[in-house]
Amino acid sequence: MTTTASPTAVHARAPGKINVFLKVGALLDDGYHDVAIAYQAVSLYEDVRATAADDFSVELSGTVDLSRVPTDASNIAIKAARLLARTTGYRGGVHLHIDKHVPVTGGMGGGSADAAATLLACDTLWGTQLPRERMLELAGQLGADVPFALTGGTAIGTGRGDQLSPALAKGQFQWVLALADYGLSTPAVYQELDRHRDRHAQDIFPASVAPTVDTNVLQALRAGDPHMLADTLYNDLQAPALHLQPRLTDVLELGERNGALAGVISGSGPTVAFLAADLDGALELQIALSAAQLTVVRATGPVHGARILSA
Ligand code: ATP
Repeated sequence: MTTTASPTAVHARAPGKINVFLKVGALLDDGYHDVAIAYQAVSLYEDVRATAADDFSVELSGTVDLSRVPTDASNIAIKAARLLARTTGYRGGVHLHIDKHVPVTGGMGGGSADAAATLLACDTLWGTQLPRERMLELAGQLGADVPFALTGGTAIGTGRGDQLSPALAKGQFQWVLALADYGLSTPAVYQELDRHRDRHAQDIFPASVAPTVDTNVLQALRAGDPHMLADTLYNDLQAPALHLQPRLTDVLELGERNGALAGVISGSGPTVAFLAADLDGALELQIALSAAQLTVVRATGPVHGARILSA
């Protein structure tokens, strides 16, 4: 019999995401909303390096604004590591180094990617061999978007967004992302939506009707056709996000005037995701938006979910 020595360090990577379609249903008793989301994982990554330690700690680096990311026990990566240790009975700790490239509080699931990469990295570092199904459950306990950061690709999320089923997607879509130098809090955007629905009682989503992803979104993804997908980009959180940050309306208009097939607020914003027809279109759009002093990055999707790069 051969035994494998535990690694002393593990490097895991997980992607950020764009919500291609997001429909918000009723407010549930647990405070979450019933949602229907089409997620696409994109080529902006969080790198987590885990090394064995007696206690739990985290340090940060990266190309994004780190000032709003906690380094204490409230960091979602620490929560993920502690949850895995509790669940498996592992008695040690871990030191995590997170190299961040997904905009913080940008509606692109950066924290969720950190949690997913941390679960995977610690499971390998500690040799706890958690079954995949169980890891997805832990991911769901950490946050509604964490299971998708584990699976990646293109998927439909229902329930709180954490009940995933894979969606067929062909080819690569070219995205241009306009980043903001401020964040939008996800709970604040949902509260704004609820306030709006309360004011306009006719807009209240009946609790008996679960929201669904439109079939033409699925068709466009299957066809790998950016023109078709552009026609179906949709986000119920866009109106409340624009209400809280009206200047995002100008960003959307600017992108659409400069060749984007369509633009949509990603998740709860404030990142605006523009879909381009092809790489040339994406490069032109990137130049135009940069010339308007916006911070812009390009990304392609779909990409892999969380995985181990070295152990
Ligand atoms: P969400 O939709 O979950 O709010 P987001 O993509 O808009 O996600 P994140 O960058 O994931 O935003 O961060 C959301 C909040 O979580 C921030 O206010 C931040 O203080 C807190 N947070 C905790 N841990 C992390 C982490 N590892 N990376 C980023 N933010 C974190």
